[in-house]
Amino acid sequence: MVSDDNLRVDLQAPDIADWRHGNTGVEYAHCLDSGRSGPDALINALMHGNELCGAIAVDRLLRSGFRPTRGRLTLCFANTEAYRRFDPSAPARSRFVDEDMNRLWSADRLDAPPVTAEARRARALRPLFDRADRLLDIHSMGTRSAPVLLIHGLAKERRFARAMRVPATVACGGGHVQGRRLIEYAPFNDPDSDKVALLVECGHHWSPESAVVAMDAALYFLRALDMVDPGYFREHVGDPAPPPQIVLDVTHGYTIRTDDFYFTAQFAGLERFPRAGEVFAVDGGEENRTPYDDCVLVMPNHRAVKGQRAFRLARAAAD
Ligand SMILES: [Zn+2]
Repeated sequence: MVSDDNLRVDLQAPDIADWRHGNTGVEYAHCLDSGRSGPDALINALMHGNELCGAIAVDRLLRSGFRPTRGRLTLCFANTEAYRRFDPSAPARSRFVDEDMNRLWSADRLDAPPVTAEARRARALRPLFDRADRLLDIHSMGTRSAPVLLIHGLAKERRFARAMRVPATVACGGGHVQGRRLIEYAPFNDPDSDKVALLVECGHHWSPESAVVAMDAALYFLRALDMVDPGYFREHVGDPAPPPQIVLDVTHGYTIRTDDFYFTAQFAGLERFPRAGEVFAVDGGEENRTPYDDCVLVMPNHRAVKGQRAFRLARAAAD
């Protein structure tokens, strides 16, 4: 069951109409070029149309006149068609129009004739993602979990996550049940390429804190790339002294098998179970138990149904 608390909207969706016409040839995508050599960075918001925090951060970067100190930064609002339909009285409905845009990032899907709103938009954005060598994809979650940085766990990603310093939890592990996410798009997922893409889950979709976390994620991302003026960073940062990061390795992903799945409590995510064998979910009468001591529940999805991922399990990384 979804508690009403998880559907409460305490954030205002920004009006992004001003950003429709950019300078990239793609609607709702802007390139800020320092004129100096440096990284080709990209910050993406609204891969999911109802995840407001990324839109707020990107809108703030644009409105405040941010300019990178080197290289160039592309700022994108991805699923603007879904975002336009955002309705605070039914906030879960505008995640996408026809299909989840973050399952399309493979050449076979992108090369096929687009038959959905998301496939058309993904095609338009593709050249921007193709040229980026550092990419931050900003998301939020359905529960009141602390923020999490999601990466595969490739050495280049772990290095960049450490350099970024936020958020406090980094989860390394595989992707979704179906389709590929933007962070899995080639060559970001190629260990031999030095291109890196990270996905940040900034907290609950419609909590004011998620907007602060999203802006901080953008600022620390830019600082790790030496692309932000220290004065701008200080003026806009929410948490100037983040705690040390904890790196988790995802060991299990669970796909729901029956029409009768439930968690045994309203878990928000990042709960740590000290003992192996603790029951935390039940699927068709079969108990899901923690497989080892100090097991961490990552991103429980209380809205997931049969065939969808309900949670991940993780443990502290060895290093
Ligand atoms: Zn998302």
